[in-house]
Amino acid sequence: MFQPIFLYSTLTKTKVQLMPLRSHEVSVYSCGPTVYSAPHIGNMRTFVFADTLRRVLCVGGYTPKHVINITDVGHLVSDADNGEDKIEKESKKMGVTAKDIVKKYSDMFFSDLQALNIPKNKFFAFPFATEYIEEQIQQIQLLEIKGLTYRIEDGIYFDTKKFKNYGALGDIAHIEIQAGARVEHVLGKKDVHDFALWKFSPKSSTQQRQQEWNSPWGVGFPGWHIECSAMAKSLLGETIDIHTGGIDLAPVHHNNEIAQSEGIFDTPQKKFVSIWMHSEHMLIQTKTQENSQAEKMSKSLGNIFTVSDLVEKGYDPLAIRYLFLQTHYQSQFSFTMASLDAAEKGLSRLREKIYNVTHWYTPIQAIFYKKPTVHMTTFNNFLFDNLSTPQAIACMHEWGNASLSLVEQYMLYKHADQALGLDLFKKEEIEIIPDEILELSIERNVAREKKNFEEADRLRKLIESKGYTVKDREKNTTVQKIFHK
Ligand code: AMP
Ligand code: ZN
Repeated sequence: MFQPIFLYSTLTKTKVQLMPLRSHEVSVYSCGPTVYSAPHIGNMRTFVFADTLRRVLCVGGYTPKHVINITDVGHLVSDADNGEDKIEKESKKMGVTAKDIVKKYSDMFFSDLQALNIPKNKFFAFPFATEYIEEQIQQIQLLEIKGLTYRIEDGIYFDTKKFKNYGALGDIAHIEIQAGARVEHVLGKKDVHDFALWKFSPKSSTQQRQQEWNSPWGVGFPGWHIECSAMAKSLLGETIDIHTGGIDLAPVHHNNEIAQSEGIFDTPQKKFVSIWMHSEHMLIQTKTQENSQAEKMSKSLGNIFTVSDLVEKGYDPLAIRYLFLQTHYQSQFSFTMASLDAAEKGLSRLREKIYNVTHWYTPIQAIFYKKPTVHMTTFNNFLFDNLSTPQAIACMHEWGNASLSLVEQYMLYKHADQALGLDLFKKEEIEIIPDEILELSIERNVAREKKNFEEADRLRKLIESKGYTVKDREKNTTVQKIFHK
């Protein structure tokens, strides 16, 4: 019943088969946005990837339990535990409260999710870090008991030298290089990889924080990384099946999450995460006087587009989703307006196919059920092979040209739409025959084929009671809505 799904693990650097810890339920934790400014389409690529993973798990027969957190405290301007808290900084700049900033940008994030057809209600939770302060303090206390922390003037730090295999996700060398070039150091930090678990509020009144809490160590706020360890554990348990994020999070944030979560375990075999998955960056061409080069789309570089920027220019947000899915999540790609134009064309070609397919019943046409196994299996297999969405989209374009019956195409497109979330049926919703009626008529055909006429009759009556008629022709059966005069 459960399909084998293979996913690329950043930890092992190989594709591994998903083996959920709790039979059909798959726990997934995705690092969410830091809500200090408008999320850009690079950020949203990461969340479309997370949503696609969720959808593919459903196609495979699993029940995802998926959490995306909202970072509303503790993410500092620098990864090196110094500099201002991004949210406090923005609130000062705008002359509003930190709460106002969080509300404004988390609302924007949720409306972008909706625009990109990422259904909020299909996720288990969107926890805010400030709602889990107690859990973060408890996690730090457990690390303290294990002797993995130390106190300096600035706060409580994780002692990475004491954690075996720190940096398992790799790429920690560049932190050392960065640290060498860094002007501002946190005084007393024993190692460049050590990181803040709890930071004390600054003493000077000019730097007073709005978001601060009492703790066993003094008034302050949690470091950025601890929120994910605490929330993942509270909502999903000590070991989770899949953890996702953008690739930039792997070297620091995710290596630190592993240290904080596994640091409290008694056995070295026990893991925080079974499969670590990372999506690549979206780049953007930046033109300088000398040349043009692709660089990471990022808030700090100011080279961003938001979903609403593009909607204002007249683009359909689902064309943005289509654009993302055209590239495998592990590949970088450069955003251009031309690529979005091409994506919009691709999406409308699919919509045309859907239009043809959904009009098959007016005038009454054949509904002769033939399970679309081969094509659906091919499509699914691409997705089960580490979410190969570009190949899955190519399949969708081929179906319209292949000599498939309209019913078969209908079934395939309906399925693909669930799997990729392109919302292709949106405009046609009112005109199509509901799945329930189609399924009943299919069941009825099966009964007729088996010459079980009693059952076929029962199903006909059931269909009629729901407002549809069925007519048997020589070679097929048709279904039509009953319009009352
Ligand atoms: P942030 O709001 O900066 O904490 O980022 C939210 C998510 O977006 C993280 O998973 C980042 O790794 C990811 N991200 C940031 N920039 C990009 C980009 N240019 N392309 C893809 N993902 C990104
Ligand atoms: Zn995180």
